[in-house]
Amino acid sequence: MDINIKPLLSSEVRKINFSYDIPISHSEGGYKFSDKIFVKGEVKDMGGYMVLEAKAKVDYETECARCLKPITGQCEIDFVREVALKLESKDEEGEYILVNENSCLSIDEAIKEEIILSLPLRSLCKEDCKGLCPKCGCNKNETECSCVLKEPDPRWNILKTFSEKGE
Ligand SMILES: [Zn+2]
Ligand SMILES: [Zn+2]
Repeated sequence: MDINIKPLLSSEVRKINFSYDIPISHSEGGYKFSDKIFVKGEVKDMGGYMVLEAKAKVDYETECARCLKPITGQCEIDFVREVALKLESKDEEGEYILVNENSCLSIDEAIKEEIILSLPLRSLCKEDCKGLCPKCGCNKNETECSCVLKEPDPRWNILKTFSEKGE
């Protein structure tokens, strides 16, 4: 959604509050988002320059990196940018939010990007999740299987051969 800051630009007001939802439905790297990002914030006239401060949060579903159990989480970010009427150079794009020709700010894409960047690289259902047995695939948090995972030490085979020869 566009945030209209015309009253701020014409100095009618010193502050504009906003709160709205950004629809988001896609999955990203194993994360499935609930259908919207909730955004709330304000644009302030700081006397000479303007600053936009917002908080954005979204619920997501993902699975445990070790046992694949579904888990839910919430990602919340602080989004702060200086507002610029125009940019001096392309390099400044990430630091500023540009006022468009309709005296509006649009931050939805930047918010989505920042949410995605702040997601944890991997999530665990619990800190000490034991994961799945690589052999039988059972969830080791719930079941104790009797799979032997260690390969027998090849040196024992040599010893065995010696003792068999000796007999
Ligand atoms: Zn787990
Ligand atoms: Zn097993």
